This record gives sequence, C-alpha cells and structure tokens, in this order.
Amino acid sequence: MTATAWRGVVAGEFGLDPATGEPGPSYEPGMELRGKYVFLSEGVRGSLAKEVIAKYDLSKGKEPQKFGLGMKEIWEIDPAKHREGTVTHTMGWPLGKNAGGGSFIYHLENNQVYIGFVVHLNYRNPHLYPYMEFQRFKHHPMVAELLEGGKRVAYGARAISEGGWQSMPKMVAPGVALLGCSVGMVNVPRIKGNHNAMLSGKAAAEAAHAAIVAGRQGDELADYEAEVRGGAIGKDLKKVRNVKPLWSKLGLVASLMGGGMDMWLNTIGLTAFGTLRHGKTDAAATGKAADFRKIDYPRPDGKLSFDRLTNVAFSFTNHDENQPAHLKLKDPTIPIAVNLPQYDEPAQRYCPAGVYEVLGEGADATFRINFQNCVHCKTCDIKDPSQNINWTTPMGGGGPNYPNM
Ligand code: SF4
Repeated sequence: MTATAWRGVVAGEFGLDPATGEPGPSYEPGMELRGKYVFLSEGVRGSLAKEVIAKYDLSKGKEPQKFGLGMKEIWEIDPAKHREGTVTHTMGWPLGKNAGGGSFIYHLENNQVYIGFVVHLNYRNPHLYPYMEFQRFKHHPMVAELLEGGKRVAYGARAISEGGWQSMPKMVAPGVALLGCSVGMVNVPRIKGNHNAMLSGKAAAEAAHAAIVAGRQGDELADYEAEVRGGAIGKDLKKVRNVKPLWSKLGLVASLMGGGMDMWLNTIGLTAFGTLRHGKTDAAATGKAADFRKIDYPRPDGKLSFDRLTNVAFSFTNHDENQPAHLKLKDPTIPIAVNLPQYDEPAQRYCPAGVYEVLGEGADATFRINFQNCVHCKTCDIKDPSQNINWTTPMGGGGPNYPNM
C-alpha cells in the first residue's frame, strides 16, 4: 500500500521469532499479490479492512459497527427425532435482561442438527459469560429432549456484524473496495448476510471490470458503492435499519412490536422512527464489574453441556506453536492493571475458546494468552473494554478446521 493507493496484499510470511516477532533465522518473506484493484472480503472485523477503514477514515459520519457472538455445535441425534428441513428460532432465554440474543436449530441431512446461540456484544454486565449462556440454553426442556441420546460432533464460534445500514462505512478508497461483512451487510431480523455478500462481490467485479476496460486502475470504485447503497443490498438493509437499535434500547418485546411496525411501514416508503442511532461501540457499552451482579452458571454436565476446552477440541483448531502470539496487546499491562479491577477482566468469559486466563491473585496476578486455542471469532478485538487487543493473522494458515460448519 502506498500513501495514495492500495496495491495488493502480502500473504504467507514464515519464520518470525516466537519471542520477538522479528524475522528469525528461517525467515521467508510473504508473497506479494498485486492488483489494479484489491477487494477485501475477510468477514467480520477483518484485520485488513480495519486498517483501511482507519487509514482513510471511512467510518466518519457513520454509526459504530455493532456485533453479536455466534456459537454453534453440530449434533448427530436420534433418527426418530430428526425432521430434515425443520428450522427453529428462539429469542431471549436464558439471557433475560442481561443481554439480547437468541438461538437457531436447523435439522440438516444424515440425522445432523446445527444448534447455535447468538449473544449481542453490546451487553453491559461484564460478568456475563456468553459461552455458558449457550451451554445453559441446551438444558431447556425442548432442546434437551431433542439432543438426549445424541452426540456433539463439532463446535465453532464467529462474530456477526449487526450494525446494518447506518453502520456501513464508506466502502471504497484508492485501489481498494470492502465487500460483504468487511462492510457489515447482515440483515439482522433475517439472521442472514450471505445473499448480500454475494451481491457485493458481483457489484464490485462489475465496477472493476468497467474501470479497467476504461483504462483506469488504483482509484475509487464509486460505482460499486453507489450500487450497494442504491441497489438490492441497500433496499434489503434500509428497511430493517431500526430493528437492532430498538432491540438495544427497548428490550425484546417492545422492539418486536416497534421494529415490526417500522419494517412494514418501510415496505411502503414510510418510517415511524427515521434512522435510529446505535450510539456506543460494543466495547464502550461494557459496564464496571462493581455495578453488576455476578452470574452463577451451572457446571456443564458433560452430556448436553461441555466445558470450553473440551468443545474447542471439536473445532479442530491448530496453530504452529513456534510463532509469536497472533493476539497482540497494545499495552501488556492493561489486562491486570485496568481490566481486572474495573471489569473483572471480561476476556476470561467473552472468549468462546478459553484463550485468556488470569492466573494468581492480587500482586501475583498474571494474564495468559493461550493463542493455540483461538477459533478466530474476533470477539476479543471487538469487546475488550480498553480496546487493547489486536487480532492479527497467525503464521502458516493455522486456525479452526471446521467440518461442514
Ligand atoms: S482469542 Fe479472540 S478471536 Fe480467538 S477465539 Fe478468543 S475471542 Fe475469539
């Protein structure tokens, strides 16, 4: 990337010293991939997209992006209970007033079921433990009855963008375009974004093709942005733009009524609320530990519910241990000096893979990062109240190895 235009990416750097992060004796520089235009479609909270948005101030005048943490298990269940094609969604329970969120249960083929739970990351109580909320959800009588006699065969987690229309940054800068969830194109009430991600890929390709045919390169693909905002993606997201802020402000029941009414009004070109703001980032929404009650979570029973590390084994995550941690602390003192006294260091709980641990107490407390367990969900990069954790790409393509997720 030069000062004026993005020219490409560098991929696959090897041999960084695990202790210093500097090139070691077996260092191999990454391959440079150059293009007339570079498309970034890294999914939610992409590390390159994050840099591009900051460098070109692309979020100026927009609402902050909002996120949820989605966790999912695949189960093989008793064939007698399996109903291929059945879809179940729930909202709320067991979160209560502690957070917004809900579940999905999809019956696939071969007696498999996807069971997942999403927790909105704007929750205030830093004692909340999203992973344990998911485990608790499976003990609801309806879910427990479905899963009893079955076995969990896979586990994974990923952040989801939820900011929608009002949070979409400017999506082009010189030589680079942001696509899909690098922009945040999930339709929250439909819990669906892949349709818009595909449309954004098509729109970006068409805009780049037209530009190259016209002899251009390395400039802003303004036609791409115009198509996203004015075309099918914009129409899809604009009419549901108030669902998420209403949910955050009014809670589940009132937001269902208000958001539903606004969505229907939008289909005839009207709106009850204009465009509501999200306000704070999810990190800034986190409250102080002393202002909230601790939550008592039942221990996993090992049949329906599992501890984090047992479940992480079912994400088939693997990282070469001989590398610097890809989870970088901007200031290594903050977890113990700031986050622990003020927020009871919530990284211990919001990480769905148990990567972060506080060991010892008082003056002996230390912060440990078990980066090998990371399932690349990006929650720490989003939710750390001090915004001190930077998720970077690990060396050698390590990470979760999801089967059929
Ligand atoms: S370390 Fe961060 S990105 Fe990795 S699993 Fe935990 S919260 Fe997700």
